[in-house]
Amino acid sequence: MALRVHSGAVEPLREGPTPPSAQVVVVGGGVMGLAAADELARAGADVLLLERDRLGRGSSAKPFGGVRGTFSDPGNIALGLRGLERYAALHEAVPGGIGLARVGYLFCARTHGQALAVEASTALQRSMGAEVDVVSPARAAELNPHLDPSALVAASFSPRDGYAEPGRVVAAWAASAAERGARVVEGAEVTGVEVHDDGAGARVTAVRYRAGGPGGPECEVRCEHLVVATGAWSARVGALAGVDLPVEPVRRQIAFADAPGGARGSVGAGGRPLPFTLDLSTTFYVHGSPDGLLLGISDPAQAPGFGRDYDDSWVAAFDAAAAEVAPGLVGLPLRRGWAGLYENTPDHNALIGASREVAGLVYATGFSGHGFLQAPAVGEVVRDLVLGREPLVDVAPFSAERFAPRSAAPLLQEVHII
Ligand SMILES: Cc1cc2nc3c(=O)[nH]c(=O)nc-3n(C[C@H](O)[C@H](O)[C@H](O)COP(=O)(O)OP(=O)(O)OC[C@H]3O[C@@H](n4cnc5c(N)ncnc54)[C@H](O)[C@@H]3O)c2cc1C
Repeated sequence: MALRVHSGAVEPLREGPTPPSAQVVVVGGGVMGLAAADELARAGADVLLLERDRLGRGSSAKPFGGVRGTFSDPGNIALGLRGLERYAALHEAVPGGIGLARVGYLFCARTHGQALAVEASTALQRSMGAEVDVVSPARAAELNPHLDPSALVAASFSPRDGYAEPGRVVAAWAASAAERGARVVEGAEVTGVEVHDDGAGARVTAVRYRAGGPGGPECEVRCEHLVVATGAWSARVGALAGVDLPVEPVRRQIAFADAPGGARGSVGAGGRPLPFTLDLSTTFYVHGSPDGLLLGISDPAQAPGFGRDYDDSWVAAFDAAAAEVAPGLVGLPLRRGWAGLYENTPDHNALIGASREVAGLVYATGFSGHGFLQAPAVGEVVRDLVLGREPLVDVAPFSAERFAPRSAAPLLQEVHII
């Protein structure tokens, strides 16, 4: 009988602010962990969620999160479309809503190769039930008058996509999970995972955590299942159980600006709010919001790392891209900015699955910039993986094992990555 403890064992263990055991321990109180905790609690599971900080203080702290079914990979489309459906229902169910605004998504293709890829993915999305069309450069510039149509070859427009407010979603799921009996503990940093191997294979048996923030006592909770939903910090938490989760943190920054031309600069064709507009060549994006235009880009010069301080280093890349596609947006004075972490995997697609090395461990991480929109569906998938049910999508392509050194599994190819 072997016991592996993947942390420095700190003795004696103290009784923590949680009961001594839970059927499922979820680590991470962002949108992903909360969606999973809520779904599991609804299904009657005994759930404990441990968050080292306050809920929603990780990448899920973004002011507005885009929600879309616009992808090229069938698994991503299915997760995105299910996410839209669930967010629409949540928006109706929660008093005051979750700030869901269906302003549409406009993906701009600037090469013939991109246009062909957008045509193919649009056809696939439509076959899966999405409302989306390929539109001409002239139509794209009606929908978003900041665009220079001469810079585009084509675009796709999906009017049912849009954005919602992650902060409201976090609050709604936390309340719902707690109402259904889940225990949610803030200030509880997971520092170790106990994995027991009795000869039949390794299995999660307990989780260690530091209660009450840095310097607090080490505590332990026994469990049958562990859900790793720790976003950009997932490689560290996976390593506590000896499971390789190749997630790399990369700072991403966004900021609000007043639209040039005032209120007129926030609307497009027929007085519609500006759609969430993205350029496939540069990852430049802009959308309207009640707080003004939200601008961003995945700055290629940004080095990986956990730093989350906001600065204006990304603005040069944004302005260079804007000069190509939307010249009127170059040099806009920015009002309020925010920095967060993308939790990137090597192929910029999610890691979702049940570990084959350590029974009982389920992971949902590495969303590489599209975790907010996938969270409602991934919450359901995690519930099903934990409870041994058939999930809504085949998660085999999302397995972390695709990155194992001798893996023959293909990497995911996704066109609509920003
Ligand atoms: C600028 C920017 C723009 C984005 N735009 C979009 C968008 O438009 N649409 C979209 O879908 N997505 C978007 N994203 C991505 C999206 O925000 C993330 O994919 C999503 O929030 C990930 O949620 P999560 O719950 O997995 O991670 P997080 O929200 O980061 O939650 C992980 C939690 O785990 C906790 N944790 C870490 N280690 C431990 C530990 N040892 N013990 C206990 N707790 C721990 C952290 O404190 C954190 O709260 C954007 C991200 C950024 C940065």
